[in-house]
Amino acid sequence: MSPSGQPFHPMNLIKQGAFWAIHLGCLGVIWVGFSWTAFWTCVALYVVRMFGITAAYHRYFSHRSYETSRPFQFALATLGATAAQKGPIWWAAHHRHHHKHSDTEEDIHPPGIYGLWWAHVGWVLSSQFISTRMEGMKDLLRFPELRWIDKYHMVPPALLLALLAGVGSLLAAQAPELHTSAAQMVVWGFCISTTLLYHGTFCINSLAHVIGRPRFKTGDDSKNSFLLAVITLGEGWHNNHHRYPGSERQGFYWWELDISHYVLKCLAAVGLVWNLREPPARIYEEAKSGPLETKPANDDARNPDFRAAA
Ligand SMILES: [Zn+2]
Ligand SMILES: [Zn+2]
Repeated sequence: MSPSGQPFHPMNLIKQGAFWAIHLGCLGVIWVGFSWTAFWTCVALYVVRMFGITAAYHRYFSHRSYETSRPFQFALATLGATAAQKGPIWWAAHHRHHHKHSDTEEDIHPPGIYGLWWAHVGWVLSSQFISTRMEGMKDLLRFPELRWIDKYHMVPPALLLALLAGVGSLLAAQAPELHTSAAQMVVWGFCISTTLLYHGTFCINSLAHVIGRPRFKTGDDSKNSFLLAVITLGEGWHNNHHRYPGSERQGFYWWELDISHYVLKCLAAVGLVWNLREPPARIYEEAKSGPLETKPANDDARNPDFRAAA
């Protein structure tokens, strides 16, 4: 998985073009200005779509750490796709590869080997990872609707963009006291929110393997960080997660803030999701003994049902 020497892939023009256009779009704030309506739209779309990445793309599609119905599975896939981080199968396949080879030369984004820039964003923009990896993805590939959204992953973000422009022009006409417009809603609700979402998510691949403290000896560089947990709705407990990726909750204790976990508990209470998997007692025993005790890395990388399905 070396970060060098890959010939430029033509599809990368679209990927990089969209990525940098969204970043450059943030500068539009100079012309569209500020309104509280646009600001709170930006915040809400950050939080809701971060949930789509952490609870759907990561905890559900990558790790199958809880179960749901087929329609809600598609809803989760659609929500995750609005974050413009490609499709659920692409995302989950690369992420499963990361757990298999964490912080080795085989890993896609080990900051300790290929540097922080590569781990954060270099790999995303490279020509190496354009297509969806199919190995070990049978459990998701068997759903035609997931294959569809994986292929047409740009549809949900494009619809969101159109919705923001539509709502913005409607508000400009019907509620001028809100001081917003189509352009302002697009800049704040799409460009700024999506850019923050990119870098919040990417911090887990880069900084969560660099800053913070390990609780478990996982054989990789994963760390636990409260700050990263705040930014990512609970993903900052990355060392916990690398120790037991089959668990839906990543904050293993009540004081480890894990917003995605709390929301999933609420969704479970109303029956939309079920079988939220927890770390077993032996992991809590191990947590007490501290990080000095050597344990094999990722020995529970996938839950048993998931292993059988894949
Ligand atoms: Zn990791
Ligand atoms: Zn993971």
